[in-house]
Amino acid sequence: MESSGHACLPTEVVEEILETTWNSTISADERKSLLSAFARADPVLHGLLTRAATRFVILDVTGFSTDDLDLYAALADRAATEAGADVDSQPQLNSYYNIEVPGDDVLAFRADVFKNSHLRIEGLTGAGDQPHRYRNVSDPHRHTWGYVLVKLTNIIPDARSLTLAFSPSSLWLVAKQIVPALLFPTLRSFPSLRSVHFSVFFEVLNFASHSAAPPTVAQVTSLRLTHVPTCECSKRDSRPRRADGHLECCLAATLLECFPNLQHLHLENPVFLKMLYPPASLRTLTLDAPPVQRIEGREPFSSLLEYNLAAAVKRGFMAAPAAADRDEGDSEDRPRRRKIVVRTGAGEPFGWMAARAACDEAEIELVQAVVYAEPDVRVESVLEPGAVKGSSAGSVLKSPTVLEAAKMTAV
Ligand SMILES: [Zn+2]
Repeated sequence: MESSGHACLPTEVVEEILETTWNSTISADERKSLLSAFARADPVLHGLLTRAATRFVILDVTGFSTDDLDLYAALADRAATEAGADVDSQPQLNSYYNIEVPGDDVLAFRADVFKNSHLRIEGLTGAGDQPHRYRNVSDPHRHTWGYVLVKLTNIIPDARSLTLAFSPSSLWLVAKQIVPALLFPTLRSFPSLRSVHFSVFFEVLNFASHSAAPPTVAQVTSLRLTHVPTCECSKRDSRPRRADGHLECCLAATLLECFPNLQHLHLENPVFLKMLYPPASLRTLTLDAPPVQRIEGREPFSSLLEYNLAAAVKRGFMAAPAAADRDEGDSEDRPRRRKIVVRTGAGEPFGWMAARAACDEAEIELVQAVVYAEPDVRVESVLEPGAVKGSSAGSVLKSPTVLEAAKMTAV
């Protein structure tokens, strides 16, 4: 790689290429070698790659690995040195986890470095800490999720958006589940966090050790769920119940309550909407309805039936708050209309007329966004907020890359 090789490209283009490259890495080893190769090759490109890595933080913690975290600790330390930051406090020891905890000035510097970053955590489940018999006697908490999360919040104390995803290198795609009771206190600790994407399965009923609902994450306004947890409450379960009959630990009942200031909810897979109780703050709901071949010999088509949208809206789903419940300010500046955006293939989705009639009745704006077009057709998405401009997508539902997700969640 020669320094003159990038001189003719505008910096923004180089930055975009490096961001794409960084987001395409699939392991901590690959990220480490990429950074060191750039460090050897070209200081300018290395600086730009470091910036991409700071903006798009990727942590693969599969098997309690902290390799990526160590990489980011070094990156944050170098940033402090380069900035000439006055961060000389002595680290304290967290004796339970046997981890060095940096002083307040170091934490404040790191929070500032990462406050606008898009954090992607891969391979975190919360379920199945290393069995005691395999643990190191002198360091018994090393292979626990508590250890990983404490280390994480000491190195990356803040982020703008967070994606929880499977690790591309992991074989355990289906069985691994997120345990919200364990993870949500960490989410609460990120002051700048506004957008969360769970591209994972949830553990629907928490174990007795964390039997109550997860804590609220009030600062988050945008939530995207690949899989909505469904109720598995058993009549025979004797744990405490809520007034609505669900167990207190039922995630199907409590998940959305953890986000009391949610404005945008995006569901990637169908669920009967009448089972959901989003907070009154919700303004925009995005539903993915990719074309699926449902009848042999017929073209694939999108459908709203799996969401049962019309029935839910008739029952008051996403209804505007009654006039008496509105804030003073709302009466002058009328509250914005609620909006449901359905992401479909090219044709009108099945069930559209019924959904439209119900939404008209409830004064909800219903919008079709054609995003699952033929791969060679460029489509201008009308999705808001922060549409992916000029993007095209195949007719197969795919998980967005970090870059796409970040653009979609960017405010
Ligand atoms: Zn339930």
